[in-house]
Amino acid sequence: MGTNLFDALIHCNDPQSIVEFLNSSSCDEMLEVDLGNDSYRHVYHVVGKYFTATTDGSYSDLYRFTYGHVVHPDDLKTYADLMNPETLKQKLQESETPYFRYAEFRYKLEDGGYRWVRQCVIGGRKYGLDENVYRVYIFDIENQKSREIGDSQREAAAAMGRQKDPETGLIRSNAFFDFAQARLEEEPTAKWCILSIDIEHFKLFDDWYGHEEGDRLLKELGIVISKFSEEQRGIGGYLGQDDFVLFIPYDEAAIRHLYNRLRNVIGSFGQSAGFLPAIGVYLFHRSIHITEAFDRASLAAAHAKQGVRNRISVYDPEMHMQTEREYKILSDFMTALRHDEITFYLQPQCRISTKCVVGAESLCRWIRPNGQMEPPINFIPVLEKYGFITDLDKYIWEKVCRLQRNLLDEGFPIVPISVNVSQIDIYTIDVPKHFGKLLSKYSLPAEAIKVEITESAYAESYDLIHSMVTKLREMGIMVLLDDFGTGYSSLNLLRSINVDAIKLDATFINQHAAANVKGIQIVESIVNMTKNLAIPIIVEGVENQNQTDFLVGLGCRYVQGYYFYKPMSIGDFEKLISNEDNLDHRGFVVKLNEQFRLREFLDQNIYSDSMLNNVLGAVAIYLWHGDENVDIIRFNQQFYESVNVPDFHNRLTSIQRFLPEGDGPIMYAALKEAMENKLNGSSCLLHFYKTDGTLTSYEMHFYYVGEQEEGHRFYGCADNETAHTDLQAQLQYIGEYSTDSFVFLKRVKSKTSFTVAAHGLAEAMGLSKEEFEKELNDNTFYNRIDAKQVAEYDAAPSFELDATFTYEFTMKNTRGDNIEIVLESHPIRDVRSNFSSIIIFHQKKAK
Ligand code: C2E
Ligand code: CA
Ligand code: CA
Repeated sequence: MGTNLFDALIHCNDPQSIVEFLNSSSCDEMLEVDLGNDSYRHVYHVVGKYFTATTDGSYSDLYRFTYGHVVHPDDLKTYADLMNPETLKQKLQESETPYFRYAEFRYKLEDGGYRWVRQCVIGGRKYGLDENVYRVYIFDIENQKSREIGDSQREAAAAMGRQKDPETGLIRSNAFFDFAQARLEEEPTAKWCILSIDIEHFKLFDDWYGHEEGDRLLKELGIVISKFSEEQRGIGGYLGQDDFVLFIPYDEAAIRHLYNRLRNVIGSFGQSAGFLPAIGVYLFHRSIHITEAFDRASLAAAHAKQGVRNRISVYDPEMHMQTEREYKILSDFMTALRHDEITFYLQPQCRISTKCVVGAESLCRWIRPNGQMEPPINFIPVLEKYGFITDLDKYIWEKVCRLQRNLLDEGFPIVPISVNVSQIDIYTIDVPKHFGKLLSKYSLPAEAIKVEITESAYAESYDLIHSMVTKLREMGIMVLLDDFGTGYSSLNLLRSINVDAIKLDATFINQHAAANVKGIQIVESIVNMTKNLAIPIIVEGVENQNQTDFLVGLGCRYVQGYYFYKPMSIGDFEKLISNEDNLDHRGFVVKLNEQFRLREFLDQNIYSDSMLNNVLGAVAIYLWHGDENVDIIRFNQQFYESVNVPDFHNRLTSIQRFLPEGDGPIMYAALKEAMENKLNGSSCLLHFYKTDGTLTSYEMHFYYVGEQEEGHRFYGCADNETAHTDLQAQLQYIGEYSTDSFVFLKRVKSKTSFTVAAHGLAEAMGLSKEEFEKELNDNTFYNRIDAKQVAEYDAAPSFELDATFTYEFTMKNTRGDNIEIVLESHPIRDVRSNFSSIIIFHQKKAK
């Protein structure tokens, strides 16, 4: 379709000629949209070209899918302006050529690349179409477009200087690709790669902390990326929003290093788990164009986002295949929803002692037209990945409410039904409000519905979920913590959550079957712990009598598992509950006399050693003789392991001997405070000399137990475990990958201590990790700094300030050589963290 002819035509304002022209030109796709009933159908379609839905169905689904997955991210505005069902009609009416509009944008191809298309929309009687019916034509204009772009890129190249962002030094979009292409041609033998970098959930960051803070974060990330590209002799670019791109010679270790640097920048904004960077890498093959290489790196980045540990992912052709498979599932699923192939089963939750039903969980089922049942594991992860899980969840919630209404109308008593809420739902809709609407729409009492939310979601989006749970509970809706024990934050979470019941994940009980001792201990500990917290627990996945006996022995009351009932159809469930004898109307209850009492923890008759070890961490009983003398009179295994000194047993008496001067008074003050505040105890940071003279630090928490003949007894946890999983993961990462040194700074009541997390500079400084940590803690590290600079060091913004700063100095290493060090300090603003800053030491490379 020639441009000139096209231009002339659209200005002729003659519907007859336009429609004839469109119909006679060779388009790739033609479809008819009926906004009257939100449907569309394909009139004509080139097979295997665009990455698009070909089945007919709901237009708003098609629009959302195309917007989310087919149109090039830079062209979304243009696409939405033309095709959004909300505005399509209005805009067509107001168009210069009435009832005719078009736009140009890029569509994704099935093989992953993009192609420019011109999409024309006509509508109305003038064109011989029914009211509300629109016809959409898609033309391929790639060749024409690439000529135009070629021209404009040459201009851009000329104006390259102007393309640099003055603040970060990164090159903006198109110019970046030109630069990179030119470099590739200049140095064709280098092993180049392209990195696509973005920050997960960045939009949320913006929402939560405001644009200004968001921009500040982007700028700091930009600076790190720009610096890195210089170091690597590559090119760094910024593509808008949170999308960065790098063209560098491939170096795996350097990329890991970059990842850690980015992570630290984000960490310095007080943010952690939810906003991790993701890096996709594409190793260059000369045959493909730079933009295509970038698309592949982006695809790899999307994969990187799925990983918690490995968030750097290298492109693999299999990724395309996977995307296609997932796309097929998505498009099939959308059809299935419309064709009512999605329903749910109900699995009863029972009281162990009576085998009576106290509730049920709704579990979605996809029943294919041929009767075959698709298990949730085949499609739920895909729905979650692309954000469509909310459509499923809302659908199931509504179906469950409708069922409850029908059951009530038929005279059944209320059996509360659990529905699953995904983490994504919380970001996309106002969950409590939605349930409020459903309850009133079906006139249901709040106890008809219970909500299950997974532990991992809770841990990842703690604040958001906490407030959602509070609202739901205020409305009278019970909230259950699902899959408990699968996350690595389980026990930390238990101290602060606000749910009505906990569902212990099936893996534990199955481990029991395999005689896994650790599994048993954990179940035991958790059950005991929940008793103390007065939270009922439901054990999932109970499959046999042995497991049942074990749980009964533990005093566990509720189960959900095949041994009692498998998930069953709605019809079977109705049959089950129509017999009153099968029901137990008490719901989940805990006896209040089981409430938490500290001293019970110490009573071995009630709480086993395994519990002490698993749940409490390193604990010991301290005896304070009243003067300046403290002994340890009992301790658990974890404590022994945590202290880890060869002369452990000699150190149990007069422990103040092993504290640095100054820590003694802190300990006595804390013990005194614990006596005064019996309920909450006291906490402080203490350091202990190990046998080799190095120091270890413990966040101590003391509780007062009571008086004995020889003095006062205290229960103390040495909390080096509560360091948040996030930071621990970070520690681990850093240790594995970095060539710099990373030091965490902790401050308790104006006393500072340093923990060396990773010491990539060990060789350069000639100091081992332990030596370096010791020098930092006893201040002898100062002596290594060039005397002239010490004054400057003291004058520099101190670590006390919650500010990011850098400081350069020259230091003497153990071989007597001078080395140049750049120190960066970033505050850690996550209040749950044990650390207040992270300090990075890197060596300035000789120019
Ligand atoms: P879940 O929420 O942990 O649900 C319990 C799963 O354990 C169900 O699997 C259930 O059939 C299975 N199960 C119950 N008792 C036993 C047993 O004794 N042994 C064994 N081996 N398995 C048992 P199902 O129905 O395949 O669902 C899997 C997961 O899919 C669910 O895990 C849930 O995370 C998700 N899911 C199911 N329906 C929905 C839904 O409507 N919305 C969302 N967001 N997720 C859903
Ligand atoms: Ca569940
Ligand atoms: Ca579960």
